[in-house]
Amino acid sequence: MILSGAGLSAASGLKTFRDGGGLWEEYDVMEVCSTQGFKKNPLKVLEFYDERRAQLASVKPNKAHKIIADIKAKYPENVYILTQNVDDLLERAGCKDVIHLHGFLPELRCIKCQFVFNIGFESYKGKICPKCNSDDVRHNIVMFGEQAPEYVRLYSLLGITNLLVVIGTSGEVLPIDRFARNVPKSILNNLDDLNKIARHFSKAYIQPATIALPKIKQDIDEFMRA
Ligand SMILES: [Zn+2]
Repeated sequence: MILSGAGLSAASGLKTFRDGGGLWEEYDVMEVCSTQGFKKNPLKVLEFYDERRAQLASVKPNKAHKIIADIKAKYPENVYILTQNVDDLLERAGCKDVIHLHGFLPELRCIKCQFVFNIGFESYKGKICPKCNSDDVRHNIVMFGEQAPEYVRLYSLLGITNLLVVIGTSGEVLPIDRFARNVPKSILNNLDDLNKIARHFSKAYIQPATIALPKIKQDIDEFMRA
């Protein structure tokens, strides 16, 4: 399993929430990323995600995305690609079957019939559900106060995982240290080991994803040969 987070897309110049100078300094997170905020001011939330979509159009996949796409192409049946990221940079790097744990920015969801459809980098404005024609649509991103439906798949796949590779996340959202303790082998790649989670992993690369990924690819090749 390759499980990625914000650090994977950082080299593409995508503004993330938790970085210094990140989105949480510009926006009140509970206003734009929670169910209460959405209830209080849906337009503000929808416009926030319109801006995120527009920003996504201006960035490109980086070397790390491309190497992950290569790994998935080489082992299509044996490698699962899961990400906390809502961007489409893995897809644009050519990666197949990406499981987006927290939703997907290019998609909208119909509030009336739950149908999910892709609008690329466009605004939600004027979009109607292709299935039921409702204009009551929203971003397809998991907010605070909501269940993440793909967590069911995450936990079921963890149960059959022999090698866990965590890239670009320090475990503020998911308990990656616990995941690492429960699999036979694990590799961590992030920039900060301030919370000392690295000791729970078999191996750690404390460096940018673009630098670590060529080595991680070798590790995976060796693991697959063994
Ligand atoms: Zn609908």
